Amino acid sequence: MTLFGGIEAGGTKFVCAVGTGPDDIRTETRFPTTTPDETLQQAIAFFRAHGELASIGIGSFGPVDPNPESPTFGYITSTPKPGWAHTNFVGAISTEFDIPIGFDTDVNAAALGEHRWGAAQGLETFIYLTVGTGIGGGAMVEGNLLHGVMHPEMGHTLLPHDQERDPFKGICPFHGNCLEGLASGPALEARWGARAETLPDDHPAWDLEATYLAYALVNYILIIAPQRLILGGGVMEQTQLFPLIRAKVHALLNSYVQVPEIINDIESYIIPPVLVKHSGVLGSIALAELAYQRGA
Ligand code: ADP
Ligand code: ZN
Repeated sequence: MTLFGGIEAGGTKFVCAVGTGPDDIRTETRFPTTTPDETLQQAIAFFRAHGELASIGIGSFGPVDPNPESPTFGYITSTPKPGWAHTNFVGAISTEFDIPIGFDTDVNAAALGEHRWGAAQGLETFIYLTVGTGIGGGAMVEGNLLHGVMHPEMGHTLLPHDQERDPFKGICPFHGNCLEGLASGPALEARWGARAETLPDDHPAWDLEATYLAYALVNYILIIAPQRLILGGGVMEQTQLFPLIRAKVHALLNSYVQVPEIINDIESYIIPPVLVKHSGVLGSIALAELAYQRGA
């Protein structure tokens, strides 16, 4: 039996698992993200305790360097998270385990997990967006996870911002009112003075939130032509957002894009993840499986 290890490395917590897929997770653990030394040692100890693995996949918070040709491949690069900038993540794991290591962003991993076992099965081009503490997007394009000069940074997309409707300046330390600055969980909390999960379903926050997310999705649709958009993360637990976003995407596209997936069936086009909170760690297991197949 070929067993894979997966690490979902988040800015607040790590989730590690051993298994082969959603119906076969042999063991799983989670622990807070502290210093790189302590946190990576905890991950290593967990995998050591769970037998022979064929490969390990890592889906990490970023920015990361996912380019195998680059001298800093496998690093968390310029993150503002204290202590974590320039951390050689793959190096730390591969000195302990002489097996293939898959490495990508947390959201590309989640996209891969949804492709392998969830909401994007059978598709070749789609986007997975998480709306949580930050906003991040992963993409598969024609069957490959998307990387270019870096990995996509869809959360920092710039959008129309009607300052009369929404005088809030935004909280992104780099751009102020980018998508993440206006629509992440912490942005909602800063604008409305209460944690997003405490705002009632009919609060005006949600129509505004749907407006920003719809602008972003329309841009992604026009640029990548995805076959589906999967929206996860804590903020998307507000399921009333889905119909609002779909209606606004329709209105913004204004019948310009004439494909049946969008025109006739937008309910199946903009959807929540199937693996729910497990997209990330299962995606990391899927990354491990890919690395194993490629012998990376
Ligand atoms: P992370 O992005 O840190 O991995 P989450 O995706 O859970 O974790 O995002 C956390 C953010 O989402 C917080 O800002 C929190 O206020 C917000 N959030 C979590 N649950 C909900 C909810 N049910 N409704 C609205 N916002 C939520
Ligand atoms: Zn930004």
